[in-house]
Amino acid sequence: MCYARGLGDCSHQISREHYTTRNILIAMGGSAEVSGLRWLKGETRRLPADAIVAKILCDRHNSALSPLDAEAGRLFETLREFDAAFADTAVPTSSSLAVLNGSDIERWLLKCLIGAAHSGGLETSSLRELDRCVAVLFGEADWPSTWGLSLFPHRDSEHSYNGIAFMTMLGSDGRIWGLVASIAGIPLLLSVGIGTNDRLRFHPGGIVFSHAKRDAEKVLALAWPTDPTSGFLSFTRSVPYGGEPFSPF
Ligand SMILES: [Zn+2]
Repeated sequence: MCYARGLGDCSHQISREHYTTRNILIAMGGSAEVSGLRWLKGETRRLPADAIVAKILCDRHNSALSPLDAEAGRLFETLREFDAAFADTAVPTSSSLAVLNGSDIERWLLKCLIGAAHSGGLETSSLRELDRCVAVLFGEADWPSTWGLSLFPHRDSEHSYNGIAFMTMLGSDGRIWGLVASIAGIPLLLSVGIGTNDRLRFHPGGIVFSHAKRDAEKVLALAWPTDPTSGFLSFTRSVPYGGEPFSPF
């Protein structure tokens, strides 16, 4: 049954919806790492794309969100391009700038969070304020001030550059309050109401990628409806590169 049925206007057809972006799953080889357990304490399983399918949205509501999937795909492709440009064997390139819609990325993560909770594959499907989450996702309600996307500059041994991993965040009440998505090694946190700390960069301006031995910078800028709340994060590629993700400093 469509999880947005409370908004009305459902179509009769239920789509088989990948709760992560289909093109991202394909780009990373058709699978994703998914963890439903507590942050840093749980198991992570790699699931094939076909297993990450749930009948959770009707065609109409699924189609309404397709621009979010497209923007998430652009994010992943941009990060892959930057990664390739800084490879040891790559011919040095000039600086470049990519501008992405931060609000769309933020809503895409909310879509992933709601979808993960509805997929039946997690330890718990209990999401805080589910109705409000759905209303915000479809633009029927404003984002509460304590919700939203932060960059999470935290080194994590599970990162692999050419991949994607999701971890749901559980509160002491056992309910899901957020999602950490590692997109090509870049950790993003979507909170629906709990948890900030000094390391989090809420609504960041973007990320500057640099290389220890080259002058060019690759800039990923995030556009928000108002000014970004926090500045740019810097990641640098060390030399020689051993296959680890960009290291924040
Ligand atoms: Zn629907």
